[in-house]
Amino acid sequence: MQYDPENIFAKILRAEIPNEKLYEDDHTYVFMDIMPRADGHCLVIPKTPARNMLDASPEQLAACIATVQKMGHAVMKAFDAEGVTIQQFNEAAGGQEVFHLHYHVLPRREGLPMRPPGTMADFDVLKDQADKIRAALA
Ligand code: AMP
Repeated sequence: MQYDPENIFAKILRAEIPNEKLYEDDHTYVFMDIMPRADGHCLVIPKTPARNMLDASPEQLAACIATVQKMGHAVMKAFDAEGVTIQQFNEAAGGQEVFHLHYHVLPRREGLPMRPPGTMADFDVLKDQADKIRAALA
C-alpha cells in the first residue's frame, strides 16, 4: 500500500490544519487526539512519511518509541496516572483509520475504562489538558 501525502497527519505536519501540539524533536511530532479515549490521550508520529509500522524504517520506529516513552512519563505526571496504554494499528483490518504511522499514548487509572471512540473533544478542555502535559515536559 502506498503512502498518501494528503492524509490528515501529513497535513498537520505541513501546518495546513490546526492541532494542539505538545512536543517535537528532529524526527517526531506529538499532538492531542481530537477524539480522546482518556484525558491526556495524545499521538506520536514520525516527521517523515510512513503509512504504518509495516513500511516504517527501523530508524523511524526507534525515534517514535523513544518519544512514546517520553510522552508516557509526561502524561502520567500530568494526570497523576497509575499506568499508560500504548496503541498502534496497522491497515484498516488492523483498526487503522489515519494512514500515517502513529502511536496512541493514554494515561490510565485503575478501574477507569477508556471511553468509546468517536466523540469530539471540547477544545478548551483539550487545551487545558495539553497545558498540563506541556508543563510536565518542561
Ligand atoms: P487510528 O488510525 O485508528 O489509530 O485512529 C486515528 C486517530 O486519530 C483517532 O484516535 C482520531 O481521533 C485521531 N484523529 C483524527 N483526526 C485527527 C486530527 N485532525 N487531530 C488529532 N487527532 C485526530
